[in-house]
Amino acid sequence: MADKTLFEKIADREIPADIVYEDDQCICFRDINPQAPVHLLIVPRKPITRISETTDHDANILGHLLLTANKVSKQEGFAESGFRTVINNGNDGGEEVPHLHLHILAGRKLNWPPG
Ligand code: AMP
Repeated sequence: MADKTLFEKIADREIPADIVYEDDQCICFRDINPQAPVHLLIVPRKPITRISETTDHDANILGHLLLTANKVSKQEGFAESGFRTVINNGNDGGEEVPHLHLHILAGRKLNWPPG
């Protein structure tokens, strides 16, 4: 069996994290190096590596991650003020952890275009 990813270890409580939401398909916790006053990661329990390796079979979980962003934005109180979702893919995309995750950034006015 392949070694667990960092985010699988967080989901399995082998590495501590500040978890704000979880269900049977995903887990949401605070980024250890926040880039905004609120910086959350939403991670599927299934260790999908990155968006570019998804298939039609992943349609349900991909939709679930965005619906979870909506749910968590209301739970954490930044749905009205606004937020940004980001998925980094591959080297040029700035991906560091090879386990798919949706960043949620909130709590300040975010610049566009991003760096
Ligand atoms: P990415 O560059 O899109 O792969 O994002 C990986 C993110 O994971 C970065 O924003 C890191 O700060 C974050 N990260 C790495 N290790 C941890 C950890 N142990 N707990 C929470 N966030 C982490």
